[in-house]
Amino acid sequence: MRFSRLGPAILLAALVLHSPLRATTTEEVKVTCPVCANEFLADEWASTNNVGGYDRDFLKHAAGGQVFIISCWTCPQCRYTGFPSGFKADKAPKQLIERLKKENPLRPAEPIDPKLEHSRKIPAWVRYDLLIQVLKLQREVEPGRLAFVHLRTAQTQRFGWTSLERFETRREVLWKKVWASIPKDTRGYDREIACARQYEKLAQDATSDLADENRPLAVVLAAVQYKSRGEDPDAARAISSLTGKKLEPGLQEVVEDINARIAREKVYLKRAVPYLEAQAAEKGRDEKEVTNLRYLLGVIHRKLGENEKALGLLEPLLEIDGIPEGLRAWVQDEIAKTKGG
Ligand SMILES: [Zn+2]
Repeated sequence: MRFSRLGPAILLAALVLHSPLRATTTEEVKVTCPVCANEFLADEWASTNNVGGYDRDFLKHAAGGQVFIISCWTCPQCRYTGFPSGFKADKAPKQLIERLKKENPLRPAEPIDPKLEHSRKIPAWVRYDLLIQVLKLQREVEPGRLAFVHLRTAQTQRFGWTSLERFETRREVLWKKVWASIPKDTRGYDREIACARQYEKLAQDATSDLADENRPLAVVLAAVQYKSRGEDPDAARAISSLTGKKLEPGLQEVVEDINARIAREKVYLKRAVPYLEAQAAEKGRDEKEVTNLRYLLGVIHRKLGENEKALGLLEPLLEIDGIPEGLRAWVQDEIAKTKGG
């Protein structure tokens, strides 16, 4: 993880905003599994962007699909999982592949149909969970790699809201109402969080002309918007206002989907913590990277509801000389959210 490069990355995002190439583009490729020789399809990315900005745990959002979700492939037949290079003859981990041919301890978190034609049809978090298992089977894996893959598994829970599709038309109507009140110069994370707040306001405003049936939908949209930027405590707070209410068909499923995603993201964030701690404690690590890792741990503890630990990590960061202004603002924001929540 190269957190210290966040500054230039943000600059790059600004450049991409003015570029005509704004969507992630992919190419479907035929893959032969190095373990079981099964042939299946997968996606390889050709171009991407940073148009959606960064979540507070440094996750980049791209328009048109997230590269990290596309790039983790699983063979539906034997569950061997890796990034594209792990499927190439010259780069695949040979010892591990020989071992898996004889004995395969990989267990998917949810059942996988071995006849699936496309790796994409396996939920991203199930693929990433298998990637964690694959890494753990290899000797001497750096804590940083395990931290990264656990974080990615958690972050898959922010994307792919197919449960909302049936509400698309009504969603558009609500979106227009919300959109009108968002300052036009906000972008990425800030814009989406501002939208979430507006959805909540809209749902609560008794004087608005919103149809009664659209009020719970507005709450759900707020929660999805918070969740999709990794702000799970806000998503949980918003959605809790619907507890015990009878919801229309389909909406209850979205609520359950949000709750399941919040629970799942928590599991993997919690598991990432010891690896991030080990990474931060590694000898010779660059000071800026350690600062970023402490900040990240602070964010995770806040999201896990461990406020004392979060503040213990975040508050000392403000004492560091020369902490980049952007990061300082994020730290202050995290402290305020931790104290307010
Ligand atoms: Zn296979």
